[in-house]
Amino acid sequence: MNAATPRPAVFLDRDGTIIEDVDYLTRAEQLRLIPGASAAIRALNEQGLAVVVVTNQSAVARGMLTEDGLDAIHQRLTDMLAADGAHLDAIYYCPHLPEGGLAPYDRSCDCRKPAPGMLLQATKEHGIDLTASAMIGDSLRDLDAGAAAGCKTLILLRTGHGAAEEAASALRASFVAEDLAGAVAELLSRR
Ligand SMILES: [Mg+2]
Ligand SMILES: [Zn+2]
Repeated sequence: MNAATPRPAVFLDRDGTIIEDVDYLTRAEQLRLIPGASAAIRALNEQGLAVVVVTNQSAVARGMLTEDGLDAIHQRLTDMLAADGAHLDAIYYCPHLPEGGLAPYDRSCDCRKPAPGMLLQATKEHGIDLTASAMIGDSLRDLDAGAAAGCKTLILLRTGHGAAEEAASALRASFVAEDLAGAVAELLSRR
């Protein structure tokens, strides 16, 4: 493929989407892949889609986790997925919290979802065609970030917090899926 040709991406939330949601995951040992997540990411890889994680990690601003600690968690996640033959093209995180965070993370930013900053940065750095891309997550703020970035498809999952957000998502989501595996199967069937 010509590297200059933008390709579609699937943006994935992390907690409640790829891994089980625990309140403020701060240790790699807490990582648990949601069943079917690796195979779903592998299917996206095989279709030539960029797979980019975009995750709010205010645990950093809250002083519960350093950025080095977060990097170690993401390395472990990368290794777990690789063991299943799945690959993430990039992981972007927002460490900020505008109110109540610790310096230097206590500022408003353009990366904390529902802001689209992480998706826009990924688009610049990885040659992505946003208008052909999808955002998948378990929170309305995921869908709102995808919409603000100009993603074509917005998918809410019932995993994580998603079941509780489903009623409010009606006007936002392109569709609602049981989990990441279901979302990817439906997304690929529409291509
Ligand atoms: Mg989530
Ligand atoms: Zn941020």
